[in-house]
Amino acid sequence: MSGRPVYMDHNATTPVLPEVLEAMLPWFGDEFGNASSTTHVYGKRARQAVNEARQSVAALIGARPEEIIFTSGATESDNLAIRGVSCAATGRDAHIVTTAIEHEAVLETCQSLREEGCEVTVVPVDRHGLVDPADIERAMTDRTLLVSVMMANNEIGTIQPLAEIGELCRQRGVLMHSDAVQAAGRLPMDVDTLKMDLASLTAHKMYGPKGVGALYLREGVGLEPILTGSGQEGSLRSGTLNVPGIVGFGKAAEVALRDMATEPARQQALRDRLWSRISSRIDGVVLNGHPTRRLSNTLNVGFQGIESESLLMLAADAAALSSGSACASGNARGSYVIRAISRGPEAESASRSAIRFGLGRSNTEHQIDGVVEALARGVERLRAMAPTVRAVDAV
Ligand code: PLP
Repeated sequence: MSGRPVYMDHNATTPVLPEVLEAMLPWFGDEFGNASSTTHVYGKRARQAVNEARQSVAALIGARPEEIIFTSGATESDNLAIRGVSCAATGRDAHIVTTAIEHEAVLETCQSLREEGCEVTVVPVDRHGLVDPADIERAMTDRTLLVSVMMANNEIGTIQPLAEIGELCRQRGVLMHSDAVQAAGRLPMDVDTLKMDLASLTAHKMYGPKGVGALYLREGVGLEPILTGSGQEGSLRSGTLNVPGIVGFGKAAEVALRDMATEPARQQALRDRLWSRISSRIDGVVLNGHPTRRLSNTLNVGFQGIESESLLMLAADAAALSSGSACASGNARGSYVIRAISRGPEAESASRSAIRFGLGRSNTEHQIDGVVEALARGVERLRAMAPTVRAVDAV
């Protein structure tokens, strides 16, 4: 790995841990059974491995194994939760409440349901990215079926007051879904304390493989499948189970739970050191996101007057970072999350000047100074160029 830039983009994805890979390998080899073909030993062993993984994923979030539906990832889980609840309620005019800074997997699903006739209310967030439970309450009507609020934001890390929102939903008989992708494995999570009815998870943000995720579905909550076929996963998600992926997800969940008391705290100390170095070394920087209610690994910094994509390119040899969600990075649209937390005429430029640092297990204290120096040099260069650019524009 030497010679490669320091990887600080763990909110986009994480590497598969060696122990996760080791757990997965047999299921690509001799253990190739179909977990639904349980008339023979091949299938029985695969089914047993899936059951064990289901227990580990359930344990990470305080759920029961029967409440876990394996999917292809959180995009599918979000779609299944939101569409599945809306379709399950056919006959009622559905109303869904969500927030302005949800992942596209939630926002685009709500948008497509709106085009199909559902009513959707998108609640704003404050300048730290926090949603006010009172705003959620005001948005609810007699027709509200579902409230979907993410547990922690993928770009700025702000952690939402889910227990309060969950309580409001309970009182009103409304279901609560949460995209818990960035929080699971990084924050203790208990579906009962948070009063969640549905929650989306994905393995690749917690050192598991890509292409496997889960939907937590509280027992008794009605859901229509979006993938129909042979009826795997309790007829809620058809398709032959991805046994190696599911085994890897189970192992990743187990490791995340095992290290919950130590690893997030270690990353938080690094994150705070990173911000302290950046803010003392570079002028004109702002911290985007909540100062304290924030994921332990996430730091989002606005570099005033700088296009984040240019800075990322200049610093690319030193650090692998991103300007926002993986889907939006590499384009010039700016971040809708930063736009949603910004106020006034600066919102547009703020949305283009943010860089996200997603720390992870591989990051260490001694990497920090090198990354900060590379950014400081990049910022100096870009700010020195800015007057020239303006002069050229004026000609
Ligand atoms: N939700 C959030 C908050 C995410 O950060 C992501 C991944 O970027 C997703 C959903 C999509 O997850 P997946 O890549 O498993 O489809």
